[in-house]
Amino acid sequence: EDIEERIERALEKGEKRVKDEEYYEVKQLVFDERTVRNLLKLFNKGVIDDLTWIVSSGKESVVLAGRGGGIELAVKIHRVYTANFKKYLDYMDHRFPIVRDKEKLIYLWAKKEFRNLKRMSEGGIRVPRPIDVAGNIVVMEFIGEDAAPAPLLKDIEELGSPRELRDAILEDVRKCYVKAGLVHGDLSEYNIIYWKDSHWIIDVSQAVVTEHPMSYSLLIRDLERVIMFFKRRYGIDSTDPRELADEIVKE
Ligand code: ADP
Ligand code: MN
Repeated sequence: EDIEERIERALEKGEKRVKDEEYYEVKQLVFDERTVRNLLKLFNKGVIDDLTWIVSSGKESVVLAGRGGGIELAVKIHRVYTANFKKYLDYMDHRFPIVRDKEKLIYLWAKKEFRNLKRMSEGGIRVPRPIDVAGNIVVMEFIGEDAAPAPLLKDIEELGSPRELRDAILEDVRKCYVKAGLVHGDLSEYNIIYWKDSHWIIDVSQAVVTEHPMSYSLLIRDLERVIMFFKRRYGIDSTDPRELADEIVKE
């Protein structure tokens, strides 16, 4: 079967999940020549067997659900045309060369997300297991079931033990710094999945190494957002993000 037909079929199934205008937008993105080429690579390598659903369509990326190697996959496609290149340059770090070419930069951005997932996984942080990367596409373990993504922390109204969850997330922020040498940089209830009583941290393309000039201020912001969310939503008393950050950095 033709790759474009397979993709089209997946998008049609996904249509129910997204608004009409989003559907056409996603279709345009996915049928972008380079993206098709990169998807094709992943199909030919046997990484992806099928695409099943549109999970999400955002300004900078589209996430599709798929299957491959006997498990469910999240296929994150970084957009080329609406990419925020200024931000991408600011969040690059010494692991990657400085490039000005937009296509090269978006490819590096995807590679950076893959490498960050790998380092975090190896450091024992709860992130989806990375599977492969091709151009602007990152393939990782899917958190959820039957192509239905698990809810984000922001959508959870009731939690059994909110304090324990908050502390587990803060512990992951610490481990991320100390064990993986990385700061997430965009951590919030929007980038944490809640599934089967545990959290999963996602969206790690902007995560920077601790040597990055912004790492300390990003660390404080990450801690603050988590602490303030749990205070606002669940009344968990706050601890000082700066003190916490200093303890982590000192380790
Ligand atoms: P962005 O915020 O740049 O659009 P994210 O990485 O946050 O990109 O992904 C967008 C959405 O896709 C998430 O809010 C989540 O619902 C879903 N998603 C992302 N990664 C996964 C995953 N590994 N498993 C399940 N759902 C995911
Ligand atoms: Mn996100």
